[in-house]
Amino acid sequence: MRVVMKFGGTSVGSADAIRHVARIVADSHREHEVVVVVSAMNAPDLRTTDTLIAAAKAAAAGNGEATGEVAPRLLDLHLRAAAELASPEECAALEPELRAMLAYLSNLSHSIAVLGELTPRALDLFSGLGERLNARLIAAALRSAGLAAEAVDATRLIVTDEHYGSASPLMDETRATSRAVLEPMLAQKIVPVVTGFIGATKAGVPTTLGRGGSDYTCGILGAVLEAKEVWFWKEVDGVLTANPKVVPEARTLPRLSYNEMGEMAYYGANVLHPKTVRPLVQAKIPIRIRNTFNPAHPGTIINGADMPGTARAVTAINDASLITVGGPGMLGLTGVAARIFGAVARVGANTLLITQASSEQSVCLAVPRAEAAAAVTALRAELAGDLSSHNVEHVEVLDQVVIIAVVGSGMRGTPGIAGRVFGALGNVGINIIAIAQGSTENNISLVVAASDGDAAVRAIHHSFDL
Ligand code: ASP
Ligand code: MG
Repeated sequence: MRVVMKFGGTSVGSADAIRHVARIVADSHREHEVVVVVSAMNAPDLRTTDTLIAAAKAAAAGNGEATGEVAPRLLDLHLRAAAELASPEECAALEPELRAMLAYLSNLSHSIAVLGELTPRALDLFSGLGERLNARLIAAALRSAGLAAEAVDATRLIVTDEHYGSASPLMDETRATSRAVLEPMLAQKIVPVVTGFIGATKAGVPTTLGRGGSDYTCGILGAVLEAKEVWFWKEVDGVLTANPKVVPEARTLPRLSYNEMGEMAYYGANVLHPKTVRPLVQAKIPIRIRNTFNPAHPGTIINGADMPGTARAVTAINDASLITVGGPGMLGLTGVAARIFGAVARVGANTLLITQASSEQSVCLAVPRAEAAAAVTALRAELAGDLSSHNVEHVEVLDQVVIIAVVGSGMRGTPGIAGRVFGALGNVGINIIAIAQGSTENNISLVVAASDGDAAVRAIHHSFDL
């Protein structure tokens, strides 16, 4: 079958890690048609993408040498791995190629320093270089391991709009170019090693898909190539029922539905972002999350089928704040909700959870703690008139809260789930500050004090015997 598989930055962060990758690709290639997507090397002491972005910003601030200074370290990181993984011939061919790519950026840095300005378009040249270096390294390692492999820059495949820094794919164009480039390679049993994260506009100007965008590349290619399955190789055995640091008995879920995955991603679990897998969900392509360092484990399979049952997982968003806008005069005060959310949106705060009881006397919203102060200031300004006329009495903020989400598509229409969640917390004496459940019933969210967060997750996990 045709499989598009992606390896994240830590899975390709060292020679040792890449050795695992090479073995996985070779094993998969024996049975399947394989397209590989790679992130930039994320070494413990050298995060390639972050380093490149920092160098570009330093150039804009006047330090034209910044890229030249980090270039030898980046070159060394890749060449040291190559020395362990690739044949001397491959290493000899790789070095000048990587050198030239880094030299190009070093030159560009000087121009940026002179201009004193870094456009998003120029920044994309920097941030996307790590993937280009790494695809070449990994292709060389695969060839040295006896596989026919070829590095492919996704600027040849993924056609995007001109939204530099966070471009979106133009799917029809991308389908045509990706198939034209990759299918002949697959027909010849060549493994394409594609750069994640980058693309190019119709005019051929390089773009990036947003931080963490290699997952998106994999999702896009899986869809346009009509893969049978898409595998995301990470550093965990799959999607867990809870954070194992909080719940030691948390276990890997063998199966999850697209809906459940989406709910969990919103709640900060280390799951694929819904946007990156939307092309796969639309095309109903099954997704697997697997562990690069434990490939014998089957991982988690994610597909369209919602399963009967109850809760599947408990996740938490830490470092949230709960803002309450309240007062008896809000009853029937038309438009106040729109103004509240408008004010919060204007300062760019991300609303994580909303509640309003039918008495209409308060609207509650949770935002990331770092965004709370700005949101409160904006709310007090927006509602100044209402506060002085006492239609609104207060804008209060509770700073140390956690949002806990109980996720499971089988909860829909199953009575008693909420009772079990609240009972579990009641039994251990945890106070619930706010509650929200959308009518999709995939998710029950509750707000508790930060100091109760871990105990609440444990109590719920335990009560559902996850
Ligand atoms: N290297 C890019 C980043 O760090 C893309 C990725 O790793 O997915 O954001
Ligand atoms: Mg990443």
